[in-house]
Amino acid sequence: MRSKKEQLDKLNKYWEENCQCSLKKTAKQAVFGDGNAESQIIFIGEAPGKKEDEGGKPFIGAAGKFFTEMLKGIKMKREDIYITNIVKYRPPDNRDPDPKEKEDCNEWLINELKIINPKLIIFLGRHSMLRFFPGELIGELHGKLIIKNIPELGKKQAFLPLYHPAAALYNGSMRATLIKDFKKITKALEEK
Ligand code: URA
Repeated sequence: MRSKKEQLDKLNKYWEENCQCSLKKTAKQAVFGDGNAESQIIFIGEAPGKKEDEGGKPFIGAAGKFFTEMLKGIKMKREDIYITNIVKYRPPDNRDPDPKEKEDCNEWLINELKIINPKLIIFLGRHSMLRFFPGELIGELHGKLIIKNIPELGKKQAFLPLYHPAAALYNGSMRATLIKDFKKITKALEEK
């Protein structure tokens, strides 16, 4: 049996060649998920930004630094967790990814989640939350632990939606809420 890391490497190699996402034309490279493949938690963001497009890793810009700081606040390191995006290529000018771009990267994401098989999936922002909770509002669901049966994942899955670090970075009250919600991660892991 291949390790999770080996399975992810194979998955990324396959989709890097076969993904039909039109953002491939403008992005410098695909930004794969990163971190500990054996982690019990996976964070899912939206799409790579400029720094990520250049560096080939998720959350390495300003939002990523803030994210790493919040992890430290709950005594975790980037090496302890796994982090990825719903869309693997940078949308030009950091615009929101459109539905077709999300759909084109969807199978890649679902298979990534199946390999990691985490206890807890944490959404960073509304785009990733909407993938599993269409029509819901991040303003209502942030910080709430939700267990939902997900047929695509073949199991009951625990989710914790959070505000996106980039949105919270320069908004004092959202920032305070995100830091407070982050503390719920440890508790959510214990509960499962
Ligand atoms: N914002 C995201 O959603 N993902 C990244 O990788 C960087 C910024």
